[in-house]
Amino acid sequence: MAPSVKPRLSTRLSGLAPSATLAIDAQAKALVEAGEPVISFGAGEPDFPTPSHAVAAAVEACGNPLNHHYSASAGLADLREAIAVTCYRDTSLEVGPKQVLVTNGVKHALFNALATLVDPGDEVIVPSPWWVTYPETVRLVGGVPVEVRTTPESGFKASVEQLDAAATPATKLLIMTSPSNPTGTVYTGEELRAIGAWAGDRGIWVVSDEIYAHLVFGDHTQHSIVAVAPELADRWVILNGVSKSYAMTGWRLGWMIGPEDVIAAAANLQSQTTSNVCNVSQRAAIAALTGHGHAIGEMRAAFDTRRKLMVRLLGDIEGVSCVEPFGAFYAFPSFAGVLGRALGAHKSEPSSTMELAALLLEEVHVAVVPGEAFSAPGYLRLSYALADEDLYEGMTRIKEFVAGEG
Ligand code: PMP
Ligand code: GLU
Repeated sequence: MAPSVKPRLSTRLSGLAPSATLAIDAQAKALVEAGEPVISFGAGEPDFPTPSHAVAAAVEACGNPLNHHYSASAGLADLREAIAVTCYRDTSLEVGPKQVLVTNGVKHALFNALATLVDPGDEVIVPSPWWVTYPETVRLVGGVPVEVRTTPESGFKASVEQLDAAATPATKLLIMTSPSNPTGTVYTGEELRAIGAWAGDRGIWVVSDEIYAHLVFGDHTQHSIVAVAPELADRWVILNGVSKSYAMTGWRLGWMIGPEDVIAAAANLQSQTTSNVCNVSQRAAIAALTGHGHAIGEMRAAFDTRRKLMVRLLGDIEGVSCVEPFGAFYAFPSFAGVLGRALGAHKSEPSSTMELAALLLEEVHVAVVPGEAFSAPGYLRLSYALADEDLYEGMTRIKEFVAGEG
């Protein structure tokens, strides 16, 4: 009997889209390495180095043979403890170390959380514009992402009415991100309380991605939906990590916090997939979390200055409008008003922000992420995690390009 020919790749992966944000970042970094004068607004990471006390702890950890071997899959006891303490400090939520799982970055925490909670066919509500990885990870674990579109009119915030209209008996959970990537939206405590109460009353779980918790500006304050909505009871997971707050994206260290049974199940999964996170990164994270917080304050002050500069410069470009972002380090302006116009030295007429982003990179060497990646065509995401001079130069290039020069 002839062997049946199976597809080379699993069906599960054949439809998986690559991370558009990482792809653009890699493209921009490769061009810079090749000597091209690229200015990148694509980066989803702080441009600061990791605080020196965290680096010193890592160097020391490398020399200690204890760190050369496997450790507990769920994370070093000291780190789980430090994360529990940090969680209490930042959110007033009391959790024990057994409620903490240390993961390879927040992306891995998201995957573990969804793999632990979502069954095939379960619906997961995700407000959009959404971070590229949410819908793909939901699909990867067999779930169905249900998009709730938000608009500039509401400051890109989802309302309880919108969420309620999207919920069905198949809804398992809601993913909330405040501050948001890509819009920089920060929900108020009241708004989060109302959403959390709604989810709790309907028995819907909330996965709260709080990776940008320390990056909130103006008179806005960060709240954890879990801390303000007791109705969630034991149906919640918080995702966080050191990537953005401590400029440690390359160290790959995040965590999930949740009820003990969920964390135990996710730790079980991790014991069969990745085992422990690199011990050296874990030691660096302990130092970051338990050391002084100057580095966060300095970074936040610099981002705030750049945020204001970027919003002002965007306002100077004809046809562009931007809801002021109050968190993370992204602006999410609408460029819908410039599409179809003759742009740049070659008078190109882009019909989508996807085309516009490609033209900006090719013609004026400016990298941005098109809104299409976040299910929001018509917008561009610009990270302001770059040096002031570069920000100014990049914005000047965009302005000239839009004016039909450049
Ligand atoms: N969540 C959000 C909202 C993000 O923007 C990112 C960006 N990297 C992540 C999670 C993933 O973070 P990490 O690098 O720690 O995996
Ligand atoms: N979260 C960052 C971004 O949105 C990093 C890239 C990624 O992990 O996809 O740009």
